[in-house]
Amino acid sequence: MPSSKLLKHTEAAIVPREALTVNPAKTCQPIGAMYAALGVHRCLPHSHGSQGCCSYHRSALTRHYKEPVMAATSSFTEGASVFGGQSNLLQAITTEFSLYDPEIIAVHTTCLSETIGDDIPQIIGKAKAEGKIPAGRYVIHANTPSYIGSHVTGYSAMVRAFVDYFAESTGRRHGKLSILAGWVEPSDMAELKRMLAELGAPFILLPDTSGVLDAPLTGRFEMYPEGGTRLDDIRLMGDSYAAIGLGPFATGAAAKLLDTKCKVPMNILDLPIGLSATDRFIDKVRKLAKVGVPDSIAKERGRLLDMMSDMHQYTYGKTVALAGDPDQLAPLAEFLTDLDMKVKYLVTGTPGKSFEPRLEELIGKAEPGDYRGAPADLFALHQRLKSQGTDLLIANTYGKLIAHDEDIPFVRFGFPILDRVGHSDFPYVGYRGGMRLLEKILSVLMDRIERDAPNEKFELVM
Ligand code: SF4
Repeated sequence: MPSSKLLKHTEAAIVPREALTVNPAKTCQPIGAMYAALGVHRCLPHSHGSQGCCSYHRSALTRHYKEPVMAATSSFTEGASVFGGQSNLLQAITTEFSLYDPEIIAVHTTCLSETIGDDIPQIIGKAKAEGKIPAGRYVIHANTPSYIGSHVTGYSAMVRAFVDYFAESTGRRHGKLSILAGWVEPSDMAELKRMLAELGAPFILLPDTSGVLDAPLTGRFEMYPEGGTRLDDIRLMGDSYAAIGLGPFATGAAAKLLDTKCKVPMNILDLPIGLSATDRFIDKVRKLAKVGVPDSIAKERGRLLDMMSDMHQYTYGKTVALAGDPDQLAPLAEFLTDLDMKVKYLVTGTPGKSFEPRLEELIGKAEPGDYRGAPADLFALHQRLKSQGTDLLIANTYGKLIAHDEDIPFVRFGFPILDRVGHSDFPYVGYRGGMRLLEKILSVLMDRIERDAPNEKFELVM
């Protein structure tokens, strides 16, 4: 047990607390909008608000992805804060196209510009009318007020905006499946593409941050790295024969719009995290694309199953506490349940009524003593762990403060991970991602057994 507590003011006693969030299990909407926009090739995210917001959003992404994150800002000062940011945005559009030559400027709002009530479509219309947007270049927008929702809501709004502005239906279907990627790492997006290629199912993936936020060090600065979904492909999404949204919170809105706007039938799945959710993803692609499942994929599944069964003695009956985003938590909780672990405490900061029913479908109803906070904060989670403890905590980097104080084995998962690397390079989705996740879980559980074993019980294999 650590000698000094970092969160020493957290009390185990729970008192009613409706109007106060302490240590939120989420971050702000524009961060998600910025991340989604970076997944489109030659797209420059633009933050319509003060410089402070934009600096924070860029630094949050840079600290997680360990890559420079390019984004522009309307740079509100006192004048814009009172009279609105139209002239700032008009000036910014001119400057950005002339200096940085993006194909798309993706504007997202902030708390300040939303409170003022800036009408972004009107400003974009004015920029067009005044010839500030060069031919073949585009300015799009998403409303991302951060006093509601979370980074996941912002991501969802920007993915929807790409569909809204660009997806077109010509009435001629093509043979590509549209895949709307939920909030996952660049490594996960690369893994999704690899699995789809193995399955032999042609596809368009939106957004795609692989090749953008996991770029190699070459010694040369690239304002717009190689990766990202191409604009022509986003247009083509309107003619797909079907679409799959991976994660209802991050992609449900875009998938619905693609359906209503372009009549592309939508399918909303959980993120393919763990055995069962990956099974559902593979099965859905197989059916929609009318392809067989190749041996290579079947073998990957078999290897994950083998690892689960080989190591079952270490996972059976262990209690787990989770904090993170709903699209990730639901399949993760299901995977842990498949491992015969018990998800006893769970917290997400992203509000949404559909989460708890989905969780119940996947892992059953909460039992007496369980806690499912949706939405809730890390303080609420810490209070429960203080009084009742758990065998494992899975959360983003902020969870480490709780793990430190309560001496709990800890696996970093989700956004943000500020103090470790690897998440941009090694996936958690798919069967191979499931193996990586299980390996991480087993490592901390087995380290703990070894740490606590008396000398006479200490063995090479415990
Ligand atoms: S919460 Fe609002 S004001 Fe704060 S950084 Fe996010 S957008 Fe800006």
